[in-house]
Amino acid sequence: MAQSVQAPCRLEAAAGLELARTLWELGELAVLGELPSERDQNFLLAGGSERFVLKIARAQDDALLLDAQNEAMLRVAARTVRFRVPVPLASATGRLIEETTDADGAQRLVRILRYLPGSPLAEADKDGLASEFGAVLGELSRVLAGFHHAGAVRDLYWDVRRSLDVVGEHAHEIADPERRAFVVRLAAQLEPAFATIPQLRLGVVHNDANDYNVLVEDGRVTGLLDFGDLLETVTVAEPAVGMAYAMLQAREPLAVARRFAAAFHERFALEPQEAAALLPLALARLCASVTLAAHQRSLAPDNEYLSISERDAWSLLEHVDGLELSGAQERVAAACAPPRPGRRSSQELLEARGRLIGPSLSLSYLRPLHIVRGAGAYLYDADGRAYLDCVNNVCHVGHAHPRVVDAAAAQMAALNTNTRYLHEHLLAYAERLVATLPEPLAVCYFVCSGSEANELALRLARAHTQRHDVVVLDEAYHGNTSTLVELSPYKFDGPGGAGRQPYVHVAPLPDPFRGPYRGDDAGRRYADAAGAALAEAPAAALFAESLPGCGGQIVPPPGFLHGAFELARAAGAVVVADEVQVGLGRVGSRFWGFELDGAVPDVVTLGKPLGNGHPLGAVVTTRAIADSFANGMEYFNTFGGNPVSSAVGLAVLDVIQDERLQQQAAGVGAHLLAGLRTLADRHELIGDVRGAGLYIGVELVASRDTLEPATAETARIVERAREDGVLLSTDGPFRNVIKIKPPLVFSRADADLLVATLDAAF
Ligand code: PMP
Repeated sequence: MAQSVQAPCRLEAAAGLELARTLWELGELAVLGELPSERDQNFLLAGGSERFVLKIARAQDDALLLDAQNEAMLRVAARTVRFRVPVPLASATGRLIEETTDADGAQRLVRILRYLPGSPLAEADKDGLASEFGAVLGELSRVLAGFHHAGAVRDLYWDVRRSLDVVGEHAHEIADPERRAFVVRLAAQLEPAFATIPQLRLGVVHNDANDYNVLVEDGRVTGLLDFGDLLETVTVAEPAVGMAYAMLQAREPLAVARRFAAAFHERFALEPQEAAALLPLALARLCASVTLAAHQRSLAPDNEYLSISERDAWSLLEHVDGLELSGAQERVAAACAPPRPGRRSSQELLEARGRLIGPSLSLSYLRPLHIVRGAGAYLYDADGRAYLDCVNNVCHVGHAHPRVVDAAAAQMAALNTNTRYLHEHLLAYAERLVATLPEPLAVCYFVCSGSEANELALRLARAHTQRHDVVVLDEAYHGNTSTLVELSPYKFDGPGGAGRQPYVHVAPLPDPFRGPYRGDDAGRRYADAAGAALAEAPAAALFAESLPGCGGQIVPPPGFLHGAFELARAAGAVVVADEVQVGLGRVGSRFWGFELDGAVPDVVTLGKPLGNGHPLGAVVTTRAIADSFANGMEYFNTFGGNPVSSAVGLAVLDVIQDERLQQQAAGVGAHLLAGLRTLADRHELIGDVRGAGLYIGVELVASRDTLEPATAETARIVERAREDGVLLSTDGPFRNVIKIKPPLVFSRADADLLVATLDAAF
């Protein structure tokens, strides 16, 4: 047989290190150990905070094949952000493949790949990750479509098309006679499905998405290793191989197969014949795998890596043996429904929207997006294109965070009621939330939106003070109810607004860039101006966003919040800090925005990020104010604080803590601000770059002297970024501020992509 297993290179670690140092000049490096491989000798190297894999190929691996692997990895890395693959690094001479001679005088080909973090799918919950895994391989097929390379055209035992031949040739090497007979029988059952193979599409496939090559981090499939089996074969080999390993160790292998197939098909539509061949090919792959394990054991009895999945493969095959095969095959094929049945085009959706949805809400972007999925900091449109989401501060811990999704689903399946019953989640959540807030903020009310929170805050303040008037900051937005529109200059002074009501008093927006006060004492002067508004009439409350959002991503000058809060209290008003936009760790150095100025409000209102997209809001206040409100009239909120919402809120707090997202906001935010400031050095249009953590504004001006707003340019830059796959939006009274407030899982690499995209747009 041609493809016997040749022993991999055996190089001492010191020699491997020397190769990496001399050929790649990567600076200080250390060998952390060897990584198992069937084919190559692999060293794990550490250099600074980075890790690399030094791969030394067997002598018989020709450079053409390695080149094909490199090309494929680079193509995948460039075309998707859904998951990562190890990319090859260029050596000091600019080559991706270097040569060396080993101790035996044999020629070896050497590469260095970037190391991917994560743990193998084999150790994760297969049942829970079936869709994820299918989606990742679907994305892989999508990006490899159209890729050709002479190095991938080869004769390989691991070609699924040859699975049954492999069984025929080597089944006799299976030691156990019962198992031997069983594999031969199963292979015969699979044979009819192989008849369609000549009609199936061909393409280059990774061909080895086994569960040790697929990496999982934080409950998500994030990486795919080892392009060593890269091959041009039937395209459906990719999902067939993946499905084989998705089913291994799963509690319900066929349910896993269906979910895997559906998710794959959504990313990369299979033709009906391919869908029909999927399960038989997956099972044939497993038959070939157990047969080759027996064969290879006879050749290399000590190489444990070769039979790594063998035991699980046997138990899966024996499980499948009890099933009616053609029925199972049909059910898997049925999971691959025709591509997007009944899905409407963007144009059709636009028309339906015009007909069915109230016209008071505009769509983002000149070319509206049809987003169907989100993961982490990315959104995906109906064609599978990824967009970096730089504006969604609602999906605070990342779109579709699995822990939040699981918490919601589990509680939804157990119970959802109102809060007139005792429930652990409600109180656990209230305890956790209060623990993040300064004293004396200690009594909670749970609601379903930021508007509901501010409405309730207003009622609390009025009940406590027995006054009616309210002081707000200019350009503020506090919510969508009739009363809150009256408290929002952004609305009542904006298009369609009815102007200021007599009971509302407006203090200047504390904008240190464009506002009247800009120097060192700006904070105190804006606070005094708020004091003047408070003096217009006895007010029930001062409402202030800790960092005004609609006002243009403003970071108030030091001393403002603290000073204004003190003046409000001195005037007998209740201080309401609206943290709907900025709370929950976004500002990085602190958990709450008002803490940046050492200020403490009497009421804090919360919304957007609390539920990561689930409608959850809260009001937290002092015991004294809560007691004033308890005047006999009940406050009942049908949905607020229900067990599902509370479970979601708890999961969000857990994720922020466990993933250190507040710290990430601080670190990535500082990195991003620095990057944006380098843009300001190059692009005259940028008047100001400001922010705290991952709450950032870039204000564009036609002239840095007059500060004339560059409104049209701001809109064009946001549109251009959208075309380049980066989602931003505008804010501020003149709509000349680029608003940046991404999910906190936003990484340094995401920040770099944003800066590079903006650079190009400028
Ligand atoms: N306050 C602020 C500062 C907001 O930005 C918003 C929403 N943009 C709200 C309140 C109202 O929240 P919701 O839309 O959840 O009612």
